[in-house]
Amino acid sequence: DICIDGEKQLIFRSKYSSVSIPEHVTLPEFVLGDAGAYADNVAVVEASTGKSYTYREVVRETSRFAKALRLLGLRKGNVVVVALPNVGLYPVVALGVMAAGGVFSGVNPLAVPAEIAKQVGDSEARFIVADKLAHDKVKDLGVPVILIGGDQAVGAVAWDDLLQATDRAGTSHHEEKKVSPGDLCALPYSSGTTGCSKGVMLTHRNLVASLCSTLFCCGEEMVGQVTTLGLVPLFHIYGITGIFCATLRSKGKVVVMERFELRAFLHALIAHEVDFAPIVPAIMLAMVKSPITNEFNLEKLKLKSVMTAAAPLAPELRAAFEAKFPGVQVQEAYGLTEHSCITLTHGDPRKGHGNAKKNSVGFILPNMEVKFVDPSTGRSLPENTPGEVCVRSQCVMKGYYKNKEETERTLDREGWLHTGDIGYIDDDGDLFIVDRMKELIKYKGFQVAPAELEAILLCHPSVEDAAVFSLPDEEAGEIPAACVVVGRDAKESEDDIMGYVASSVSTYKRVRMLHFVDSIPKSASGKILRRVLRDNMINKNKKY
Ligand code: AMP
Repeated sequence: DICIDGEKQLIFRSKYSSVSIPEHVTLPEFVLGDAGAYADNVAVVEASTGKSYTYREVVRETSRFAKALRLLGLRKGNVVVVALPNVGLYPVVALGVMAAGGVFSGVNPLAVPAEIAKQVGDSEARFIVADKLAHDKVKDLGVPVILIGGDQAVGAVAWDDLLQATDRAGTSHHEEKKVSPGDLCALPYSSGTTGCSKGVMLTHRNLVASLCSTLFCCGEEMVGQVTTLGLVPLFHIYGITGIFCATLRSKGKVVVMERFELRAFLHALIAHEVDFAPIVPAIMLAMVKSPITNEFNLEKLKLKSVMTAAAPLAPELRAAFEAKFPGVQVQEAYGLTEHSCITLTHGDPRKGHGNAKKNSVGFILPNMEVKFVDPSTGRSLPENTPGEVCVRSQCVMKGYYKNKEETERTLDREGWLHTGDIGYIDDDGDLFIVDRMKELIKYKGFQVAPAELEAILLCHPSVEDAAVFSLPDEEAGEIPAACVVVGRDAKESEDDIMGYVASSVSTYKRVRMLHFVDSIPKSASGKILRRVLRDNMINKNKKY
């Protein structure tokens, strides 16, 4: 499938024929457009409470909420930050924002107030949707809050009151603005190849195209019956596109879970007869290693397949999982926020396209092009030769919000998205991700941006210089580690400085290993040599 075009680039395309992408639909129309035909089916159920929503309810509530937002003054292109855990109403909120012409921007509700405030400020959010817990963190930001699942709170409008007032307003008062497929619909945050978190501008067309390519991989017999576990956070693109929208588009049911706890997780798999569990490698490790798994009669599991994505999957872990859960198919996937979600994956063997090699991340999805670029020369590389993975398709983001420089660094003039990952394709069209050249650290699949932690470290009065980098870790995949230069008179210990970072960030961003050093190695242009630091620390730890 190599094609050499005018510029002598080696471009690899999917070995499967293209799938058609509907031209004129928005994401909510695509996901829920046919729901009338199966209106009584359950679309979403909360694992912890058993509260469920049929498709009829999801469609009705989505359109009520969209109308409510317009009545509140939401204009096309306005951002709504959603600070909610995985609750049953989440798809209604996200799709309602999009149906109203707004832009859904999910944030981790467990993030510290400053992190949420940063996203609210950067995205110029017009509204915030929060639960009671997150409300305390957002109530003083000067942005109107819509409160879900709490009593009345000062400065916030409660969900039920809002929708009831909307019903009373009738239909004539709200302005229907035509939402077009080219409009923005989502603004998830990602640090990309360098620097701090940035808003990733995704359009309705981006996400519809992503779903069309992804759903190609689902076994046909699953469509209409599949029960999917909705555990991956819905503020992350994997959760909202790859799980929620994909399942609802396929008439399936999502069992939502707010957080991972192995016992509750295994219980939910059995009790809800889950067919498909999208997870991350850290969860697979817990399933394999924890003695808690042995408390369950695994023969009761109906699970047909798990998908692992968001971070590398070690072949040993995969093999251990297959031994413990025989009959459960493991489907690895690779994707990134900037590409609307899944980009490479294995298919369903029952559909005749599940033949990518086990230790590969899969094949190129239909409609997508990939090339591998030598980072030092910029030239595209042939098969079996690792280079930076670059992707081109209708799923490529429009750019980073208000950040032209980072956009230009990531998207080139020919429309290629430079992923910052190193990989290669073999003679059979299977792809392998072998390294990551971008700064990003993935802790249990969560993004940690070294630049953000370095900025926090540098605010400490005793810290003169700092560098943050990843270290391999069996449980988390990678952990953030730091080398820090402190002033001569510094009284703090290494633990004190780690505690200082811990008090300023979400739990998953904590620096888990920190050493004082005399200086930070940098290149001639002043770039931190993170790899040198990482290798030094790995060697140092080996000695002990
Ligand atoms: P995010 O935007 O948070 O989804 O992060 C995307 C990044 O996660 C990719 O650019 C990769 O570095 C990493 N990643 C995602 N899936 C995989 C995978 N299957 N194997 C290795 N790395 C992955």
